[in-house]
Amino acid sequence: MKGTVYKSTGSWYSVKAEDGTFYDCRIKGRFRIQGIKSTNPVAVGDRVVFELEQTGDAVTGVIKDIENRDNYIIRKSVNLSKQTHIIAANVDLCFLVITLNNPPTFTAFIDRFLVTCEAYHIEAVLLFNKVDALSDEEFGEVKFLAELYRDIGYTCIGISAKTGKNIEEVKALMQGKTSIFSGHSGVGKSTLVNAIEPALDLKTKAISDQHMQGQHTTTFAEMFDLDFGARIIDTPGIKGFGVVDMEKEEVGDYFPEFFELKDQCKFNNCLHLEEPHCAIKAALEEDKLYWSRYQSYRQILEGDDENYRRTNYDQ
Ligand code: GDP
Ligand code: ZN
Repeated sequence: MKGTVYKSTGSWYSVKAEDGTFYDCRIKGRFRIQGIKSTNPVAVGDRVVFELEQTGDAVTGVIKDIENRDNYIIRKSVNLSKQTHIIAANVDLCFLVITLNNPPTFTAFIDRFLVTCEAYHIEAVLLFNKVDALSDEEFGEVKFLAELYRDIGYTCIGISAKTGKNIEEVKALMQGKTSIFSGHSGVGKSTLVNAIEPALDLKTKAISDQHMQGQHTTTFAEMFDLDFGARIIDTPGIKGFGVVDMEKEEVGDYFPEFFELKDQCKFNNCLHLEEPHCAIKAALEEDKLYWSRYQSYRQILEGDDENYRRTNYDQ
């Protein structure tokens, strides 16, 4: 049988079969581990092949194989072991919920998120929330930011999770896809998810209640079906994404606005720092690129993104 993993608690996986039935499945014996080595061989979002078996009165499943992943999001443990954990696989869309104030979301954080999505090959969408609470001046700033990121090619929507403004537009993007929402705590993620599908609130609450009772020491991601034909992956305690290891030469590949320019740099391994005849620096001087983006680029290149790392997770 074939199915998709909706939940994982370490040793058991809740798998939704193609006919919609959920089965508790385990991994038994060895099977082909794909791609990277991680603490969890199977992750939420994985498409798996499984067989049913009778255990006492219950029918449970044994996962035999994982289909190739379109993409996956990892987190690395911060301790010395540096073990990799796959948070979710086969994600179509990553939404970043942004607020100008209360709390502020800085462009360095937005850019790190976008670079990570590019590296993961996941489409990113920026949602500017709380537009109902903006002064004229703040509205101007949000408009500027949205235009900046639209200019680079990202979808940007000004929304209000509170009043429901443009929530239908968000739902239209989500239709038929698997989405993840991230953003700093307090930007309105829970309010937004509640506006998208009120019934879901109870389910997510139920998860956090479980955690409160100390049934789990680690937080696990879980996927939910939404009534309008979309899926959402809830990743408790994760505000952003794990830091992707990348080579210095690679970072520029994740800034789409550099694509057409970088071939014109004199050196083909140009890092766009102090090299002569750099097309990126020339474009910046002519205001054809955004300085805030270039600043973020340099910060990532120089590994000066500790702030990002520190604010990445709740714990
Ligand atoms: P989370 O930590 O990202 O899940 O944020 P919450 O959903 O808990 O929201 C944090 C606070 O922002 C709450 O007091 C919400 O009522 C408020 N909030 C969320 N969305 C909006 C919005 O669109 N407009 C306004 N004015 N407040 C909002
Ligand atoms: Zn260059």
